[in-house]
Amino acid sequence: MNVIIMGPPGAGKGTQSKRLEEKYDIKQLSTGEMLRAEIESKSALGREVESIMDRGELVPDELIIALIESRMSHSDCKNGVIFDGFPRTVAQAEALDEMLESHGRTLDAVIALSVDEAKLVDRLHTRIAETQAAGGAVRSDDNEDTLRRRLEEYHDKTAPISRYYADRNMLQTVDGMQPIAAVESAIAAILDRARAA
Ligand code: AMP
Repeated sequence: MNVIIMGPPGAGKGTQSKRLEEKYDIKQLSTGEMLRAEIESKSALGREVESIMDRGELVPDELIIALIESRMSHSDCKNGVIFDGFPRTVAQAEALDEMLESHGRTLDAVIALSVDEAKLVDRLHTRIAETQAAGGAVRSDDNEDTLRRRLEEYHDKTAPISRYYADRNMLQTVDGMQPIAAVESAIAAILDRARAA
């Protein structure tokens, strides 16, 4: 089963993807996490993307597409993938269609988490506090200025892919402001239906 989870920064994509990964035995591919690992390892790609990410802007499509293409062929993806934070542009959505087709796979569901954007700043502060309480490192793009830029990028470049999937009758929206467990059940209901179809 191959699934996309989309939504603005702070919508809960990562939290939900991790839960679904266990429940459905499919691999979460978070392009944001993959890029942060590249920065951590000081690879050439990491050096190329670090300042772009710190500004809250999108990394060029060709870099992201190449990253997903190579990662998808690993054996841990053979049961299926939950795409978290990808695609973020129409060009990436088109490339994903081609990649899935060339791997003989289909897309089973596209889930958009809807949020009240006025509450995203509160969520950001909660995420920072929770990360610090757990002794973790706060993401360098988790601050209010960058969040605003990430939201602009979302509206300009990512929101149009809702139409791309709606036109293909693939888009299903879940209220991302509900408690985490309720969001998870709503997504599971969609995936169970997709799996049975
Ligand atoms: P995320 O962890 O999904 O919030 O992503 C963090 C940052 O990584 C984004 O603000 C972008 O700079 C970059 N990024 C992650 N995924 C993508 C993508 N699919 N396309 C372009 N940039 C991305």
